[in-house]
Amino acid sequence: MNGTPDKKRILSGMRSTGPKLHIGNYEGALRNWVALQDQYNMYCMVADWHALTTQFGDTSEISRNSREVAKDFIAGGIDPAKSPIFVQSHVKEHAELHLLLSMATPLGWLERVPTFKEKQQDIGGAERVPYGLLGYPVLQAADILMYRPYGVPVGKDQAPHLEVSREIGRRFNHLYGNVFPEFVNIIGDIPVLPGLDMRKMSKSYDNCIYINESPDETAKKIKSAFTTPSKIKKTDPGIPEGCAVCQYLKVYSPQWETQWNEDREGLRGCMQSKNECIEAVNEFLRPMRERRAAIDDTTIEDILRDGAERARAVAQQTMQDVREAMHLW
Ligand code: ATP
Ligand code: MG
Repeated sequence: MNGTPDKKRILSGMRSTGPKLHIGNYEGALRNWVALQDQYNMYCMVADWHALTTQFGDTSEISRNSREVAKDFIAGGIDPAKSPIFVQSHVKEHAELHLLLSMATPLGWLERVPTFKEKQQDIGGAERVPYGLLGYPVLQAADILMYRPYGVPVGKDQAPHLEVSREIGRRFNHLYGNVFPEFVNIIGDIPVLPGLDMRKMSKSYDNCIYINESPDETAKKIKSAFTTPSKIKKTDPGIPEGCAVCQYLKVYSPQWETQWNEDREGLRGCMQSKNECIEAVNEFLRPMRERRAAIDDTTIEDILRDGAERARAVAQQTMQDVREAMHLW
């Protein structure tokens, strides 16, 4: 069974650069995917080849990471019966389409991508940048175009990335014939969740609350989270906008407005806020953690095998059309 025919197809993915998703990944992406999966045929990809663009040095954990990320998708509410979950490298057609699209993609388009410029500097200049990192947007275009989706869910800040994929699709159509219908951005009102230190929550900053950690670990982290530095005594006024604990209360506590007012007016101490925050966050994560604990490796492998089969059925059809259009058949 490959989706409900009357529903439009959409696709989204996440890189498996680590074994755990955090509540920022949930708020910024997964929550939206879960909300969309009833309305659309949603394909959820674990992008392991994309992880290699920055983590090519040590690949020992890559397949474990992909399985763990897939478990977190399900913990977060993706229903694999409705929405195929698959690992990018299990559907080899992505590599073939990437290769063919790479022939028709001007180098200048790739060099201009802002994240490439940043990463190039981080890595230490052109001599050290892998070819695969430059090609990242071509692989992303292949991932998307392969499914000829109606749309791709995306945060506002990522819209420029998708524009490159769209351009690559247009160029293919212009050169070889109409194979890829134009897709739309399904823009969610996607917030950026701050980390425990008030920078963006990000696994590379080690400032995350993970779906898959114990309630005690979460409690320990929230106890040492960043709060208003000038609020030392309970009666000192707080600035909830700049306090990580208050930010989480806003997302996870129904009483956040009262809690924020009391913080501002010096009617409560940070310890009280932290305790209430621990309660709210752990309560929110409890059903996810329960769902996750019930998925063992054999189960996830079956789910990923099934997801890859369903994805491959679509991919093979697309590749047939691509090869025909390019006279490679
Ligand atoms: P890395 O540190 O390796 O960049 P990350 O923790 O930032 O990892 P990504 O893999 O970059 O996570 O992002 C996966 C998805 O989660 C993306 O859709 C991204 O926009 C979203 N996301 C990541 N961090 C946040 C955050 N703090 N708030 C909201 N959304 C986020
Ligand atoms: Mg990131």
